[in-house]
Amino acid sequence: MGAHEIQAKSILIKRKYIDSWFVSRYGMNLYRGCQHNCAYCDGRAEGYYVDGEFGRDVCVKVNAPEILRRELDPARRRKPLKGGYFLLGGGVGDSYQRLEETYYLSRQALEILAEFGYPVQVLTKSTLVRRDLDLLQRINRQSRAIVCFSLSSVDERISRIYEPGVPSPGERLEILKLFKIHGIPTALFLLPVIPFISDTEELLERALQAAAETEVDYLIFGGMTLKEGRQSSYFLNTLSRHQPEFVREYREIYRGERWGQASGEYYRRLHSRFWRIMRGESGSGGPSNGGSTGGIRGAGTFRIPLRMPPELFGDLLDDKDRIVVILDQMDYLFQLRGKASAYGSAARAVARWDGPLSDLIKPGIRIRGISGKAAAVIGEILECGTAREYERLLRYSMGVSSELPHSAQDPS
Ligand code: SF4
Repeated sequence: MGAHEIQAKSILIKRKYIDSWFVSRYGMNLYRGCQHNCAYCDGRAEGYYVDGEFGRDVCVKVNAPEILRRELDPARRRKPLKGGYFLLGGGVGDSYQRLEETYYLSRQALEILAEFGYPVQVLTKSTLVRRDLDLLQRINRQSRAIVCFSLSSVDERISRIYEPGVPSPGERLEILKLFKIHGIPTALFLLPVIPFISDTEELLERALQAAAETEVDYLIFGGMTLKEGRQSSYFLNTLSRHQPEFVREYREIYRGERWGQASGEYYRRLHSRFWRIMRGESGSGGPSNGGSTGGIRGAGTFRIPLRMPPELFGDLLDDKDRIVVILDQMDYLFQLRGKASAYGSAARAVARWDGPLSDLIKPGIRIRGISGKAAAVIGEILECGTAREYERLLRYSMGVSSELPHSAQDPS
């Protein structure tokens, strides 16, 4: 295993627009490369420029704490940083991979974020994050912290094949429980579900049940991308060795799309399956409909928010970013139901907007990308921080309410 110590020039990754999944504009990669070596990892793709053999060679940014302190120190900044979470994780290497036991870069980054009072979100697959429980509790008390774990399946055998370097799904869920018990909000990223392997109705139900039992604050769900080149050939090689019967299906759904997306038809089926299970409408699910899988909860009882709930971000964002996140969440929840929505284009239009926010809702003015309904939602958010349509949609998507949002009939 090669650890290559390097000197980084900068650490903080800044996004031009807020990311509504993470409610974040800032992130960092303290390691380049990942010992976890998940077969589906897109960090392996050429576009990420991770040198050497992925899974073995990892660049360690040993001067990261020093650079990060300089970049974050409010006294050295001309403009204050924007609100939202600082993301530790994701990208091209898990921040709690085994090298962290030696280098303590994540711990030091958290100490700096705590010192300057920034909110933090950790996304990992490693139980090593338990080491920093005390620090994350302190951050949560002063500025908010969230701990998120990702898994592609709750099935131990599937995980051993496709996520060979990480603790089992059961161990990851146990650590999520531990953080929750210690008062830190948690999330499960059921991401990526592996086509034809962990995207089955039974495994999705089991994952949702595990998430509900772990009492996560929200769940992020998503399919897998497979970019042509190193990522695709590594994954298909693993697939051929363990489950060759699916190779043909993969060739059918992954057709060289630039970003590695599967066919739209596949994602539509996946989202519709997930939505039905989430709402207890799957037909094979709970005791309420005589399902076959036994022990799975009944209709609408998972009750897990499918995006970060507003109580975890409402007070962190300025008006513009709050509007963007809410509109984007609404768009996602409509798409999950297989409905087109104009809220996504409105979110993008607001993100790009440089003028006063009140101009977005001025009577008689139509701004490209912002429909009348979206403008009404924006007006409500500006007035009271949220919108009734958004709240209705959240309740409906969690199965708490059967009342369909008004715009579900005509979301334009
Ligand atoms: S833990 Fe994340 S970054 Fe590391 S190999 Fe797996 S998917 Fe990639």
